[in-house]
Amino acid sequence: MDKPSKRKARPAIFVHGGAWAIPEIEREAHQKGVHRASMAGFETLLTGGSALDAVQKAVEHLEVDETFNAGRGAVLNAEGEVLLDAAIMNGADLKAGAVACLSGVVHAVALARGILERAPHVMLVGDGARAFAEEAGVATCSPDSLIVERERKRYERAKQLSKSGGLDPVGGPADTVGAVACDAHGHVAAATSTGGSLLKLPGRIGDSPLIGAGLYADDRRGAGSSTGWGEGIMRVGLALRAVDSITSGLGPAEAAQQAVRILESRTQGHGGIILVDFKGELGHAFNTPHMAYAYLAEGMTQPEIGI
Ligand code: ASP
Repeated sequence: MDKPSKRKARPAIFVHGGAWAIPEIEREAHQKGVHRASMAGFETLLTGGSALDAVQKAVEHLEVDETFNAGRGAVLNAEGEVLLDAAIMNGADLKAGAVACLSGVVHAVALARGILERAPHVMLVGDGARAFAEEAGVATCSPDSLIVERERKRYERAKQLSKSGGLDPVGGPADTVGAVACDAHGHVAAATSTGGSLLKLPGRIGDSPLIGAGLYADDRRGAGSSTGWGEGIMRVGLALRAVDSITSGLGPAEAAQQAVRILESRTQGHGGIILVDFKGELGHAFNTPHMAYAYLAEGMTQPEIGI
């Protein structure tokens, strides 16, 4: 495999907006959202930003877009609150930052970046994570300002269904957001941000902020960001498994397909993954009815969008 230093790569970004049965009425908004986020991330790469800057920028776009289960617009837990999980990882030095069970911050990914840069730890949760926002220069907000009407209604319906035993605990909205990127120096990075799963128990943490499950980045291979049913994704270590399987003989497209096949066969899990390798080649796979995604790389004039 090539040495990661001093080589040139194709700048590329891949963004996802979740893998699940996205209702028809929500599909256009998902496509527009991932389109915009991929453009913002790619612009960062073209103006000299690093892969790490690009994934943060793309995810921040999705966190303020109420369409997605991240930042404002995230799903509510069993107590009717928004509690966020997010992480970011740099492939050059394997540095990472993560937050979980976080309330009152729109840009959970920015706080994760602050932890990567300033904390002596990789992950902070709950009140400790929120308290670190000041140190990281990240704005806080009232926890209720993250709740949107669509999600309040979804929560009420789901509560009723769960009382009557009709709620599919793994079939709810899973529009976690994520991004992977490769910059012109061949450095890769990954980021994720989510409200987790609808009606999750207080204290539940999904795969999204877990290094190796929700995301992974290593310049020697590539970067990956997962989405879907977190309890299955965690148990197969989906992101590390997929990134680690990228070799000169197995590109990101095949690596993504192989990882999702393992998720399905070993845990009966469902979800998807986006991948980039250190040359800027891209790949993705999902076994859900939909995954909202967009990618853009040097040589392309417009993002390729899918759902
Ligand atoms: N993976 C996330 C979780 O389980 C959900 C998602 O991807 O939408 O928390």
